[in-house]
Amino acid sequence: MNYLESPVESLKGVGPTRARQLERLGIKTIRDLVYLFPRAYEKRGDVRSLSNAPLDMPVATLLTVASTVKSVRIKNRMTVSKFRAFDESGSVEVVFFNAPYVKDVFTVGATFRFYGRLSYSKKLLQLTNPKYEPYIELKPLPDFIPIYPLTGGLSSKVIDTLMKAVIDEASSLLPDPLPEQIRLENSLPTIGYAIRNAHFPQDEESLSKSLSRLAFDEMLLFGLGISLQARNRNSGDGIRFSPCSLKPVLDLLPYDLTDDQKSAVNDIYRDTVLGKSGEPNINPMTRILVGDVGSGKTVCAILAMYIAVCSGHQAALMVPTEILATQHYSEVSSLFGKLGIKVELLIGSTTAKEKKRILADIESGEAQVVIGTHALITGKLEFKSLGLIITDEQHRFGVNQRGVLKEKCKSAHMLVMSATPIPRTLALTLYGDLDISRIVTMPKGRMRVDTYTVDESYRKRLDDFIRKQVLLGGQCYIVCPAIEVADDEKDGDVFSPTAISAPFGDNTRPPLKSAVEYSAELQARMPDIRIACLHGKMKPGEKDAIMQAFSQKELDVLVSTTVIEVGINVPNASLMIVENAERFGLSQLHQLRGRVGRGSRRSYCVLVSDMKTEQAMARLEVMRTTYDGYEIAEKDLALRGPGDFFSTNSHDNFRQSGGFEFKFAKLCDNSELFSAAFSAARGIVASDPELTRPEHALLKKELDDIINRNGSSIS
Ligand code: ADP
Ligand code: MG
Repeated sequence: MNYLESPVESLKGVGPTRARQLERLGIKTIRDLVYLFPRAYEKRGDVRSLSNAPLDMPVATLLTVASTVKSVRIKNRMTVSKFRAFDESGSVEVVFFNAPYVKDVFTVGATFRFYGRLSYSKKLLQLTNPKYEPYIELKPLPDFIPIYPLTGGLSSKVIDTLMKAVIDEASSLLPDPLPEQIRLENSLPTIGYAIRNAHFPQDEESLSKSLSRLAFDEMLLFGLGISLQARNRNSGDGIRFSPCSLKPVLDLLPYDLTDDQKSAVNDIYRDTVLGKSGEPNINPMTRILVGDVGSGKTVCAILAMYIAVCSGHQAALMVPTEILATQHYSEVSSLFGKLGIKVELLIGSTTAKEKKRILADIESGEAQVVIGTHALITGKLEFKSLGLIITDEQHRFGVNQRGVLKEKCKSAHMLVMSATPIPRTLALTLYGDLDISRIVTMPKGRMRVDTYTVDESYRKRLDDFIRKQVLLGGQCYIVCPAIEVADDEKDGDVFSPTAISAPFGDNTRPPLKSAVEYSAELQARMPDIRIACLHGKMKPGEKDAIMQAFSQKELDVLVSTTVIEVGINVPNASLMIVENAERFGLSQLHQLRGRVGRGSRRSYCVLVSDMKTEQAMARLEVMRTTYDGYEIAEKDLALRGPGDFFSTNSHDNFRQSGGFEFKFAKLCDNSELFSAAFSAARGIVASDPELTRPEHALLKKELDDIINRNGSSIS
């Protein structure tokens, strides 16, 4: 049997239990194993002298044991083992908890490379629970130690050992999916080199080359996916809507459309009613409407639905949360009600009886517009004549779900609304499968959200400010990057966001604030204020109940992860605080800021960060001085590279992107690499649209795997 396809059980040290643990990580074969990448690397090659080592962050030191290990028992059957160690610059007390066996490891005079945090305890320099390797002169230790995701009860060490056993042979056997010519044109290493160095990098350069190669592959595949879709959609079997006047709707609006809104509606009208001039058939519309939060996309959607309904077809509007569905429903139904158009709301909490009636009405055509969550796609929904599908996703790449609804009716038109401004240079590549309409100018009279950037020293003042806003009758959002206190060692997530932007560990980064702990602490400091916590691990019903309570002003402060990014509208909210602001993409911060300043209250956004690097400060400064989402997106691209656009920086709202994964693309800070991958994809599709050439066979297989993993469709 092919070595790569042999089961992991064939490896020494892998019995049925290990095999089951590995299987839980999706690893059955040796090939699967080498595709399990480290989530971070410890940079142990950077050895510091004690006098020169930074405190309170992981650092490597080379120390010689100076005294025998003394172990004492303390409460709760804990043992503490201590000894002294030194280098030429000073000495330190090394402390281990519950590791009495270390007395046999650390013999006086032996030298070890330690990796751990130094700190002072009562003026005494200590190194607590460090990792260690015996140091033998002439036998070099590796500079980088891979840290694997700890899942299914497997330790990083176990995976490390297995990986060492297979990596040489496996990486030499891996066939390269990238055509040689493309690889060379882009100065990329082979897949074998990339995989080997992604696990055991020789040095920083080989690591970065490898990560670039792996990122290129991801972006190329994604590029292939969207280029192929773009080709496939000229089917000419779209439903042609009849010409109609939009005046009845426009007359009901208390405002005039902005020019950008008008032009977006014109685009839609052209796509669905007029078609390409001179052509008898019409293609199903696949358009994305991109507009900053509050730019007025909803009314464009309403007009599009009106066009569909006027031609005797039905329209479906799909949104990510129940509360958003409910909000849209009340807006749309009050308007359409006046025009005699029947709108239904279909969400998880709709009662069974009600649901039955609604489903019947949709099937008979009685219901002309349906608004709902993914309940729309999971239910046994049959439309009489579905003509238009709109998804309000607020997120990029929500490719997955819209596909399912589209399957129900291939000739229906599709409109996607996104509140993520994408830089012009990226739009074509990221949304290459979709036609784009943009709303750039905001409706008149929008208030600016005053934005401040502060550090931890403002904590007390910030608390006072929260209290003041609440006393004034306003409400406050506090966004934290983590759900619960994340212990680096316990993080079970493959490529956790922490690791992505800090592949060398957390050295320069302030610790993470977590929603659960933060809300408890805040409640303890402010017992009189109604505080709730919201995060993505809660059940949907629970989440909706809390959002509902907040929007009905039964809560004053909502401490949450970025789940609230998803379009909730609470005009009374006047303060947005983002903790660890350095962890978020600028566009994401901009989205979060857009949650306040929606009513008549003067509103504020406070970005809290203790990160003092030049780049971090520059980014936050952009937020303080810029309010235009597109400008922010452009600056984000310039400062961080395109990778950020693949990353939502949050466990919560990482939406599936049609099965495409961006583990490495997220790390990419190189716009040229990104464009190169996309242009390579376009080149491949142009010359070999079915990917039938032998040099494209492996790419085709990977693409097929993604599509199959994702169900029937990626569009
Ligand atoms: P989003 O693009 O974030 O979905 P909405 O469609 O919810 O934005 O619009 C935000 C607010 O702006 C709504 O209250 C809407 O009534 C209002 N609005 C939309 N278009 C205009 C306009 N042309 N002039 C004034 N207000 C508008
Ligand atoms: Mg909206």
